[in-house]
Amino acid sequence: MSRIFCVANQKGGVGKTTTCINLAAALSLKGQRVLMIDLDPQGNGTMGSGIDKRTLKNSVYQLLIGASRFDDVVVRALPEFSKGSYDLLPSNRDLAGAEVELVDIAHRDFRLRDALSEKLADYDFILIDCSPSISLLTLNALCCAQGVIIPMQCEYFALEGLTDLVETVKFVHLQKNRYLDTIGLLRVMFDSRITLQEQVSDQLKSHFGDRVFDTVIPRNVRLAEAPSYGVPGVLYDPSCKGSKAYKAFASEILAKTKSQSTPS
Ligand code: ADP
Ligand code: MG
Repeated sequence: MSRIFCVANQKGGVGKTTTCINLAAALSLKGQRVLMIDLDPQGNGTMGSGIDKRTLKNSVYQLLIGASRFDDVVVRALPEFSKGSYDLLPSNRDLAGAEVELVDIAHRDFRLRDALSEKLADYDFILIDCSPSISLLTLNALCCAQGVIIPMQCEYFALEGLTDLVETVKFVHLQKNRYLDTIGLLRVMFDSRITLQEQVSDQLKSHFGDRVFDTVIPRNVRLAEAPSYGVPGVLYDPSCKGSKAYKAFASEILAKTKSQSTPS
């Protein structure tokens, strides 16, 4: 049975997509069967996985509104890599329309969960890249996930808005999806030479304790370059600092999930 994580933070540019594609590839490198879902109409996770969002026949939009089946939407990302490739439900700007259309559709918070229900045995991990908002799309992600990974930069305003997301996760846990019970904060784009970042990092740890992942992702230019080649950093330059950190993060996720039971 798969473990489902969404990567969320209502701020843009905080490293959600970078985290999602690198974790997908890193888990695949470790022999895991991975599905990544691009739930952001910007389609950055799609492009960063080497799939051209402008030429999609079907996207996650068609899946959510019931116009296409899973098997007609899923594509294999990065098949040229013998290790590190993964399945992808791609997206593009069409998905922006789903927000409006889903409002009138029954069971609208659970469209994604329903669409995945017959595929859970096919994957060890399902990773959902969310858009920078707490929208109906993000709600769909939370309604089928067991965990939320929140990438954060250790900056002064980093904690701003976090409360809203944590409250939303609590609400979804209580009202809609009792399996959603794990929140993990991932420190990204970290630069230990900056004293303020060390201070915010310490504050995060004292406030959130073991809900802060041990792994810290450094600021690393190779991670930023990689998407322009349509490849996650861990495959583009496996030995750079950023890639090593994401591979360590995959190990941490694997170790953490091993001990937890999966819902039936
Ligand atoms: P989000 O999905 O939250 O909007 P992205 O993952 O697209 O954020 O990251 C925003 C920008 O920061 C991108 O240009 C990305 O390449 C860059 N970036 C992300 N993580 C790192 C990192 N660890 N080091 C350097 N640049 C990074
Ligand atoms: Mg993104």
